[in-house]
Amino acid sequence: MTQALSDIARDKGIRYFLISFTDLFGVQRSKLVPTQSIDMMAANGAGFAGFAAWLDMTPADPDVLAIPDPNSLFQLPWQPEAAWMPADLYDVDGQPIPQTPRLVLKRVLAQAKEQGYQVCTGVECEYFLLNADGSDISDGRDRQAKPCYDQQALMRRYDVIREICDGMSFLGWGPYQNDHEDANGQFEMNWTFDHALVTSDRQAFFKYMVKSIAERHGLRATFMPKPFPHLTGNGCHMHLSVWNADRSVNLFLDAEGDLGLSPLAYQFIGGVLHGGEALCAFSNPTVNSYRRINAAVTTSGATWSPNTLSYSGNNRTHTIRIPDPGRFELRLADGAANPYLLPAALIAAGLDGMAEKRNPGPRHDNNMYTEPLPPGTVKPLPKSLLEALGHLEQNTVLPERMGPDFTAAYLKLQHQAWREYTRQITAWELQTTLDC
Ligand code: ADP
Ligand code: MG
Ligand code: MG
Ligand code: MG
Ligand code: MG
Repeated sequence: MTQALSDIARDKGIRYFLISFTDLFGVQRSKLVPTQSIDMMAANGAGFAGFAAWLDMTPADPDVLAIPDPNSLFQLPWQPEAAWMPADLYDVDGQPIPQTPRLVLKRVLAQAKEQGYQVCTGVECEYFLLNADGSDISDGRDRQAKPCYDQQALMRRYDVIREICDGMSFLGWGPYQNDHEDANGQFEMNWTFDHALVTSDRQAFFKYMVKSIAERHGLRATFMPKPFPHLTGNGCHMHLSVWNADRSVNLFLDAEGDLGLSPLAYQFIGGVLHGGEALCAFSNPTVNSYRRINAAVTTSGATWSPNTLSYSGNNRTHTIRIPDPGRFELRLADGAANPYLLPAALIAAGLDGMAEKRNPGPRHDNNMYTEPLPPGTVKPLPKSLLEALGHLEQNTVLPERMGPDFTAAYLKLQHQAWREYTRQITAWELQTTLDC
């Protein structure tokens, strides 16, 4: 029998629990529950009005109930008397709500499991440290044109980085490196890959932890895809491998295969490239996302983000990079990607690739920025969120695997967001058109 949360609370000195769900736009919604009520809440769920979050519901709908996952408890390293627990949404009759992002991922992982696969992911969440009002980077001396790995600027933020890294160690994630990234004010911190659901819960918590610790230091952290037009944006690269059921054999690893990848891995990549434009609706889910991909060169000399649906070896100018035997890296996704929907869509596309034995086509080893391939050789990435949504509407694989009800809800809310965007009159339009 699993230990009651109230017992865990007594052992660990926890006084409050955040029962948290991540909505369709990646916002974390919580109830803060005192220990004396936690066993009742864990059994019955914490109630929320679904319409008040980014879910396709109306104010007239009955409550949604968030039931925390007993296997996933994160004691806040910076406030250990509180714990964060990701939850799944159920309706008042006890039925799972299909548009819950965490349940969408579980649905896709169940399809993988049926095939005898366990999927592992690792994620790289880049972020900027800004001043408290978010108007500029926080470190006025961080101005090098090529600031990547800048030791001086990294160590000026030692107090923040160390506290976050210590937090990951406390939580047992196996953090292994921290660095200054390619934009002024930008950082990345890496921890060890794990089962896809474990990584997703950690990614959701990581974003909360980074924002919280930054705030405690008088700063503001942002994962926004492209906050500054002239600087490299925030990527959210995802590394992926497929294992057998008990995770004793990496099915992507093949010493005989090109770059140490098995035929199964290439079929997975074939599925990702096949459904790549529709995948963008999840990997690049905001209007701002399309300023990071297909972008003009930044002051560092490269955007480090892709422009085409293509794959390569250890080459960072394509959507898919194969850095090592036994895994690949998707470089497409950005910091706005929903921690549950990104892997759900990626794995759905890959399962389709393996089921259909999709051929990824030839590998391209060119520098995609300076020596682009002749037009028609590989598919370009969508130029806007609207274009990506159109591809998702035409796609048959992702809606089926992720759930048709979920997909309809997601498209509806994303089209609303796009319409809201089209009603904006930007500073650029005024500047270029006022005197027409
Ligand atoms: P890079 O910057 O070269 O892309 P990082 O070291 O920043 O790489 O991130 C690599 C990520 O890939 C880490 O989260 C790591 O744990 C993960 N990873 C390594 N091997 C695998 C694997 N076999 N399957 C999934 N993820 C992996
Ligand atoms: Mg109330
Ligand atoms: Mg990295
Ligand atoms: Mg990086
Ligand atoms: Mg990377």
